[in-house]
Amino acid sequence: MLKFADLINQNVEELAALDAQDAGKIYNIVKATEIPSAAEKLRYYAGAADKIHGSTLKMSGQLHGYTLLEPIGVVGLIIPWNFPSHMFTLKAAPALAAGCTMVIKPAEQTPLSALFLAHLSKQAGIPDGVLNVVTGYGHSAGAAITSHMDVDKVSFTGSTEVGRLVMQAAAASNLKPVSLELGGKSPFIIFDDVDVDKVADISLSAILYNKGELCVAGSRVFVQQGIYDKFISTLLEKLKSWVVGDPFDPNVRQGPQVNKKQYNRILSYIEIGKREGATLLTGGNPVGNEGYYIEPTIFTDVTDEMTIAKEEIFGPVMSIMKFKTVEEAIQRGNATQYGLAAGVMTNNLDIANTVSRSIRAGIVWINCYMAFNDDLPFGGFKMSGFGKDLGMECLHGYLQVKSVAMPIYNSPW
Ligand code: NAD
Repeated sequence: MLKFADLINQNVEELAALDAQDAGKIYNIVKATEIPSAAEKLRYYAGAADKIHGSTLKMSGQLHGYTLLEPIGVVGLIIPWNFPSHMFTLKAAPALAAGCTMVIKPAEQTPLSALFLAHLSKQAGIPDGVLNVVTGYGHSAGAAITSHMDVDKVSFTGSTEVGRLVMQAAAASNLKPVSLELGGKSPFIIFDDVDVDKVADISLSAILYNKGELCVAGSRVFVQQGIYDKFISTLLEKLKSWVVGDPFDPNVRQGPQVNKKQYNRILSYIEIGKREGATLLTGGNPVGNEGYYIEPTIFTDVTDEMTIAKEEIFGPVMSIMKFKTVEEAIQRGNATQYGLAAGVMTNNLDIANTVSRSIRAGIVWINCYMAFNDDLPFGGFKMSGFGKDLGMECLHGYLQVKSVAMPIYNSPW
């Protein structure tokens, strides 16, 4: 695993270029952050591989009991297109450390880096048959994995809609356990006492990073009334220098959407937003005549009932809502079927603690956003799924507990 990680670092340019070409991701950002982070996942879990152990149990009578943590077996790892290399090792590293063998299915839109990573894993000396990559469509290759009788677990990241199909296939076949990392509609809550300039920057990356094709996108921005006007004018000022274009151009902040389907979907949500009465503050249009580029788009006067406040758009579209009290922010922040992530921006400790404990989401960021770490478990509540990626919690998802009991003395018990 350590050698595999080194090979990823040695091939950072090639992997970043493959993800930039396949998914329209910004080359320099992927090269500087996502690929090195993909390598780090292998190092983190390599460190855990020789520290997996069960416990010794005090049993009644003259019995000795202990548990063994055994690899769950063959795992199916099904990943989406928005973070191709990063998601690959995020899933593969804990499975490898646990001693599982695996079939990885990249998204049909972004298979290139997965194939290259499989090649590097072989070069690193991972034995044949341990890490397998099968490309293909979800309804064929993906479904074959989820319904297979010899696959012992599926870890899936993708849409809530397909997450349901994954669970159904698992139930209808061998009752394999599944873990699901699904969609989100995360609240980003800003209180009056913040440094507006700093928070405006955080809120823009929270929705525009990876052109909004981001499961944790801070797409519902709740702004307390005292700073509302100042926040809006600061955002507009900052967007003047926001460049959309070729993901290989170092000045560009936002590349094209992944494909035509996604591009059309985002534009149709923008139309729905206008039709339902939200105010289009800025953006809303394609950029240029070629490629799937969309302007950073901000709606204001959004109500909680509007489609754009409820459904995951998965694009560069921010909805802004005004609020008055802490209670209102909590209640409206929680008014969603999803529970993936949330952001709370405030310098007031009482508010930060109250809101972070009251929001039903798998991860809450206080005065930051998208702060991920290999050690910090990540995974949603509600219809954002269940089970965790990252951290030791994730490793335990690839292990099963076997209990062993025997008499202490070699006599019949
Ligand atoms: P998707 O659900 O369409 O596809 C995800 C993967 O599932 C792909 O590999 C696809 O081929 C496969 N798939 C499709 N149908 C299948 C089936 N019937 N059986 C088995 N596999 C099948 O999602 P997407 O469009 O690639 O990605 C976008 C979605 O992923 C968004 O909803 C986003 O929020 C979510 N996502 C979630 C996280 C997270 O960690 N929670 C991270 C990234 C993306």
